Amino acid sequence: MERIERRFWRYVLQQWKPLVVALLCSAGVTAITGLTAYLLEQVIRSMDMRDSAMLNRVSLTVIGVFALKWFFSYGQVYYLALAGQRMMARLREDIFAHLQRLPLSFFQSRQIGSIQSILTNDVPLVQNAVLLVRDVLDAPLRIVAFTAYIFYLNWRLALLALLFLPLIATLIRRMGRQIHRITHQTQGALAEISALVQETLAGVRVIKAFATEDRQIERFVRQNRQVLSHSLRGERRRARLRPTVEFIGAVSIALVLWFGGQQVAAGHMTTGQLLSFLFLLHQIAQAASGVGAIQFTRKQVRAAAERIFREVLDVEPEVYDPPNAITLPPVQGAIQYENVWFCYPSSEQHALKGVSFEIQPGEVVALVGHSGAGKSTLVDLLLRFYSPTQGRILIDNHDIQQVRLESLRSQIGVVPQQTVLFVGTVAENIAYSQPNAPMEAIEQAARQAHAHEFIEQLPNGYHTLIGDKGVRLSGGESQRIAIARALLRNPRILILDEATASLDPISEQMIRRVIEEGRGVRTTLIIAHRWSTVQIADRILVLHQGRLVEQGTHAELMQKGGYYAQLYRAAQLEVL
Ligand code: ADP
Repeated sequence: MERIERRFWRYVLQQWKPLVVALLCSAGVTAITGLTAYLLEQVIRSMDMRDSAMLNRVSLTVIGVFALKWFFSYGQVYYLALAGQRMMARLREDIFAHLQRLPLSFFQSRQIGSIQSILTNDVPLVQNAVLLVRDVLDAPLRIVAFTAYIFYLNWRLALLALLFLPLIATLIRRMGRQIHRITHQTQGALAEISALVQETLAGVRVIKAFATEDRQIERFVRQNRQVLSHSLRGERRRARLRPTVEFIGAVSIALVLWFGGQQVAAGHMTTGQLLSFLFLLHQIAQAASGVGAIQFTRKQVRAAAERIFREVLDVEPEVYDPPNAITLPPVQGAIQYENVWFCYPSSEQHALKGVSFEIQPGEVVALVGHSGAGKSTLVDLLLRFYSPTQGRILIDNHDIQQVRLESLRSQIGVVPQQTVLFVGTVAENIAYSQPNAPMEAIEQAARQAHAHEFIEQLPNGYHTLIGDKGVRLSGGESQRIAIARALLRNPRILILDEATASLDPISEQMIRRVIEEGRGVRTTLIIAHRWSTVQIADRILVLHQGRLVEQGTHAELMQKGGYYAQLYRAAQLEVL
């Protein structure tokens, strides 16, 4: 894999056009600053010579030059920002597009918050990379140009003045490092404090039960004072930095004035040149402090870029299709699992252990088992969210690993346990997978989902807004919309993950009806949480710790008196 820094800089260099414009404008500003020094010298000279015509001319030139500078300054700021903003927009788009292609496992192993933090915190930080480009090229240019100029004005004075620059630079760097170290210590102490607070809040019962409040307070006070003393030490250093630098600056200026005054008196230099010299010296010091910031910005940018690449952009996207994948032709809905084993990458235990079964087209099959038995995993494999570690899954005799993912998923309707409704109208929500679906198709899907009746009674029927700002639907109504959404494509395979929360009796009855009406029409696979649904299934697959332990109808399994019967009786007892 190509180094992160290299790939990251490619994003910056993509914006070379505005960057070049910004840099040219910066060079323009530098040239004008040099010119200003020259004009300053001329103003003083015209005053010395009491030449008012020259004074007029020079003053007018000053106005003209600054008018020109307006454009350069504008260009410098705007085009740099343009490069930064464009680069950031590009990066955001790439990250978002990449996120869409990442496998489900990525989102399960990561907290959504940390991904969001990358988009909102790290992306704006890398924008500073364009500042780096400017500082790396522009500041040295200014330093070299102005230094050459002051040597030209008076090389002895220039040597004397520049003696101080390294001294100031080292001093700032040393003090900066000390401040950094103290800040680090303070943060460590702060982290300890917040851990203590958290522990105290979480353990408040224990603390009260053992009456150890005073001891907790003592511990807190001790650590809090430590934070205070660290912070104050940092503040003292920080407070010392500025006056120290100012003092050394003043000493160097006094020295330059003292020696420069002598040079003027001896006739080696004019007063105007001395003033111009001081002005340039100030510019050099400013540019030098810009160079000092480079290191800091670079570290910041690099850390942010590394997070962006490592945690998002470098994560392998879902392998969509093998190169020779075929398009799954319209299926009848026969499903076959052949000795399927599966182990989550993050886990040591197999979630599925040698599961084999066959489902005929149009059959209604309920998956039953304790939580963690492997029901969701079994279904996720059918949707190819994951691939079996061993074994095969066939739909109409096509190994699903060998077909194009889109052709597979588009033929399976999924009703998740928790319905996700988007902000929009009821119709838009049903047509989520097919935004151009005609109204008749939407209505037909809603009828099949037994949702049409209640939708008609909403204030605006199919055009009623739902979601945060619109009408609130009950859990059962939401799920019926989700069923309509899944049925819109008329899939031959329907996966229904039953809600665990109880639904209103009407919805429950309607959903049962949808299942029964689908019998013989589409293969229905239900992750069952209700015995009433289980009982209407043509067949029940009973899972236990990743193994398929029993299968049959409710009556058969009850008669057999095995694991299923045991589960059923235990559940009945619970209800009673
Ligand atoms: P069920 O749907 O029957 O409740 P699951 O299929 O969710 O069961 O889980 C089967 C097993 O796989 C459990 O032991 C569970 O802890 C494990 N498991 C589920 N999802 C993951 C995951 N993303 N990473 C690691 N292990 C998982």
